[in-house]
Amino acid sequence: MAESEHVSLPTPEPPVNHELQRWSVAVDAGLNQPLTYQSEKALFPELTRGQRVWVPLVNRKTTGVILGPDSRPTEEMEFEIKNILSVDEEFPPLPAPYMRWLEWLSEYYVHPVGLVTDLAFPPLRRTARTLGSRKAPAVPKIALQPKHELNQEQRQAIDEMTSHSGFRVHLLFGVTGSGKTEVYLEMLEKVLADGKCGLFLVPEISLTPQLIRRFSERFGEQVATLHSQLTNRERTEQWWSIFEGRRKILIGARSALFCPIPNLGLIIIDEEHESSFKQEEKLKYHARDAAIVLAKDFDFPVILGSATPSLETWKNAIDGKYHLHRLKKRIGDQPLPTISVLDLRKTEKAQHLPGWMSRELHLNLLETLNQGQQAALFLNRRGYSSAVVCVQCGDSPLCPNCDIHLSLHGKRHLVCHYCDYSEPYKEDCRKCGGSSLPSGLGTEQIEEGLARLFPEARLARADRDEIQSRDQLEELIGRMEKGDIDILIGTQMIAKGLDFPRLRFAGLVLADIGFNLPEFRATERSFQLLTQMSGRAGRHGATADNPGRVLIQTYNPEHPSIEFAARGDYEGFAALELTHRKPLGYPPFQRLAVLRVQNLHRNRAWASALQIQRQLSEITQKTSLQQRCEILGPAEAPLARLKRAYRFHILIKAENSKSLLWLCQRVLDRQKSLSPGTNLSVDIDPLHLL
Ligand code: ADP
Ligand code: ZN
Repeated sequence: MAESEHVSLPTPEPPVNHELQRWSVAVDAGLNQPLTYQSEKALFPELTRGQRVWVPLVNRKTTGVILGPDSRPTEEMEFEIKNILSVDEEFPPLPAPYMRWLEWLSEYYVHPVGLVTDLAFPPLRRTARTLGSRKAPAVPKIALQPKHELNQEQRQAIDEMTSHSGFRVHLLFGVTGSGKTEVYLEMLEKVLADGKCGLFLVPEISLTPQLIRRFSERFGEQVATLHSQLTNRERTEQWWSIFEGRRKILIGARSALFCPIPNLGLIIIDEEHESSFKQEEKLKYHARDAAIVLAKDFDFPVILGSATPSLETWKNAIDGKYHLHRLKKRIGDQPLPTISVLDLRKTEKAQHLPGWMSRELHLNLLETLNQGQQAALFLNRRGYSSAVVCVQCGDSPLCPNCDIHLSLHGKRHLVCHYCDYSEPYKEDCRKCGGSSLPSGLGTEQIEEGLARLFPEARLARADRDEIQSRDQLEELIGRMEKGDIDILIGTQMIAKGLDFPRLRFAGLVLADIGFNLPEFRATERSFQLLTQMSGRAGRHGATADNPGRVLIQTYNPEHPSIEFAARGDYEGFAALELTHRKPLGYPPFQRLAVLRVQNLHRNRAWASALQIQRQLSEITQKTSLQQRCEILGPAEAPLARLKRAYRFHILIKAENSKSLLWLCQRVLDRQKSLSPGTNLSVDIDPLHLL
């Protein structure tokens, strides 16, 4: 309506309050510090910590979260202070303990605060299109099922866990099939009865339809899920259903921890030892550790569950910091599988069998197939072979971008497992013209050998080449469950977390892959993998006369990861491994940070690494941190070149994380002075040192 058409008396203007407020805002950008913005009190009377706002940044508009008033004196402001543009009306302010937690994440993992706070929001705006879509929901509607009568061990664990309210960390230590999930369900039911919500975190691979089904059978439509395979629209929908309290139990992979669940009363982390709980890029957080901090802030309990707890968790449990609960037996007294170890150095090759297959392995497969049951063979290496080598001159082609041998795939391509570079495979050696032959076993070769030996058997392979999506994984699980597969061949992808009821025999073709890696956690990982793999066999319908069977083929039968795994002795393994780590000052005895320096030019990467090392020793000398921190390196990383970048690293060991963080922060503050093109990343509590 135009002014002139409307005649009315001017209303007296209210007294205008131009008073300004200054705010410290975590802006969604890779900045080391929050930025200062201002707002007119009269325009934004209700601004507060945790509110999402729109702000100008250089020449664009972006979101940010208010951290609080900025009370620094004006003289300290070096720049013109810009105005907050508007409040993001979609979201109420995030609760105070949750904000504290986000800031802690940013500080602890040394990552820009605005990039951390941004993780607290769903990927899409809330529009009619993103909400209430007619697409199938992420959680199916399922009739509720009656629950099991708990056994004595389960009952005891639950009674102990519920005897205390408020923050506490529980470790539920039980073999696969001992009824841990049933305990989780019961605990969640109690949380719901208290009018609260629960979060259940699992490794991405375990987030199967069977698992979601099991939760839906118990909790019906109160269950929501969040994982990486959902579309942005589905994620947004699930996020709101939890945030608005329409659903009360969130099942998700690592990142679901960022959903600000109102009234959260319990977090459960199943398979807490799994390395997929650690994000390896950007914010390098560990979801287990971050969950414990969150629970402490909000004062509710956390349950960690595992058959093979990480040594960090185990030490906390035996030191009494965490509360240990044991489930010692499988449900229904199902026997644990019998595990045999086969020493490959002492076995005779059988002419009619492929080189990797012992007579024992062959017999086990024959017997399993004859009984109409399923077998699985594991080998932790995809492709046909891990390299090709010339029989005449010994040349073995490397990736042009990485310091890595090219693997043979489909007998036609040479592929780099780190950067996906590929080239056609030629049998004539490029150096001398001799014949370049496959060397080092891969899953494709296993499949080929089995197809020749058992032409009638139905085979399936599960590795990252065959299974690239959740749909493909689900299809495979379905075929296994229906009994449409006789022998499954796979990498660690299928060794973990999956439950195949008809699987009776599991064979590990070559256990030695893995424990020779130059990493202090290699033995622990190998033990976990062997135990998890063994746990796949004979989960249902096994009896004392006919238990599941496991065969481990190895050149190192006396390796501790094998000896203890074969005996099913986690505690013995943990005790031995802890005595090895203590004198070396490795976690869980000391804290670790790794500074990774990368540059396309080797000399620049090295110069930067040296410079950082000098900075570090300067700082520690000046500050008395010298006694408390040990600085190792710089050294070439075990993977010395990846994606064309040369890599060096520096390790810092310290007794507590405080000095560690302080040092890393100082180094990052000075990173502008490093050689051009240098990428420096800080990884706190790293899982990998490769
Ligand atoms: P875990 O999580 O330790 O692998 P689950 O909770 O999945 O163990 O239990 C293994 C199997 O036993 C599941 O099929 C589950 O439904 C069943 N189960 C669990 N607890 C009981 C119980 N108390 N009585 C009967 N069956 C049970
Ligand atoms: Zn490569």
